Amino acid sequence: MKDVMTKKQMTALEFRLSIPRYLISKGLSTLFPHRLFPKASCLHLTQVPTPILPSPDWVHVKVEACGICGSDLNALRGNESYSMEPYSSFPAIMGHEIIGRTEDGTRVAVENILPCCTRDIVPPCRHCADGDYNLCGHFIDGKVAPGVCIGFTRGLGGGFSEHVVAHKSQLFPIPDSLPLHSAVLVDSLASAMQPVATHAPKNTDTVLVIGAGIIGLNTIQCLRAIGFTGTILAVARHVFQANWAKKLGATHIIKNIYNDVAQHTHARVLKPIMGPPVLEGGVDLVFDCVGSSQTVDSALRVTRKRGKVVLVGTAGTLKMDASPIWFKEIVLTGSAMFGQTTIQEKRQRTYQHVIDMLSDGRLSGNGLVTHEFPVTDYVAAFDAALNKVRHKSVKVVLTN
Ligand SMILES: [Zn+2]
Ligand SMILES: [Zn+2]
Repeated sequence: MKDVMTKKQMTALEFRLSIPRYLISKGLSTLFPHRLFPKASCLHLTQVPTPILPSPDWVHVKVEACGICGSDLNALRGNESYSMEPYSSFPAIMGHEIIGRTEDGTRVAVENILPCCTRDIVPPCRHCADGDYNLCGHFIDGKVAPGVCIGFTRGLGGGFSEHVVAHKSQLFPIPDSLPLHSAVLVDSLASAMQPVATHAPKNTDTVLVIGAGIIGLNTIQCLRAIGFTGTILAVARHVFQANWAKKLGATHIIKNIYNDVAQHTHARVLKPIMGPPVLEGGVDLVFDCVGSSQTVDSALRVTRKRGKVVLVGTAGTLKMDASPIWFKEIVLTGSAMFGQTTIQEKRQRTYQHVIDMLSDGRLSGNGLVTHEFPVTDYVAAFDAALNKVRHKSVKVVLTN
């Protein structure tokens, strides 16, 4: 059976790194941020051999659906940080938010990270030994090509194709009763649950969530799912995103970040001679799900002394005033992907927390998957994902 699968060709969206194409895509995305130029991009719809198993501990998974992630869009638009380039290998079949079926028919979510145990590295690195495998020190070593995750790693297939190979440790059974449009959110929910559970606020805290794309919206619903009853202020760029944020648990939508945060936290707005305002007082905790120079700069300005700003899902090269980090002793930190977290005194892998919560109703798909396309219709799919206002898109998925 496996030999047959390895000989078979499959349709796949392949990312072939070409410096000229990457730079052209970067230039075009600056001019047209909401458009994909498929002919100029590094993306190719092609036929490739079904991937072979790197070791007997790996299995074939037939892909049912795979979400388009913001990191996919960044790669296609040439906006991925250069510092991440060593942690990938090409050509790679894109797609890492994967729901599929193993050869025995079990429906699974594929946790896409490629730490020591998937690379046959013994003994594991210190972070893997502690269970924090999202911080693995061997993403570039071992039996598998360099890469943090499936979708940006050569030789493993990917979610934007018919088959992917996965290490047994990456498989999480999904009940067939869970709708596909809920199951396919497991990965993006885990990306939000990891920082929320790691930096869980007290119920007396005021939390600011910046950004109301899928990660921001998931952050809001994860805060409520772990039982947070305090105030959530949310910054949403578009009206339809603001409506989602309210529906999922935001207390107030913020329009003017300085005045509105000051009003809701009883802080004072101080206006320097030059530059944006800064608050005396402010929120206790910020989840910045945008990670731009402007959002991080304003997050630091509206956070109280000894508060915390967490970069969720993304980051890049920033230009900001770091004075508040020093003057207000703010902790600025990040949260990478997902590993293990403790929620209501239960420590387990974050993927499992999310699957449990989707199964018992603490989390819900909520209709956040707004668009579904076959892989062959990828141009329309990426257009829907990039042009959020026109399509009112939240999560776009590709299916087979
Ligand atoms: Zn992702
Ligand atoms: Zn490791």
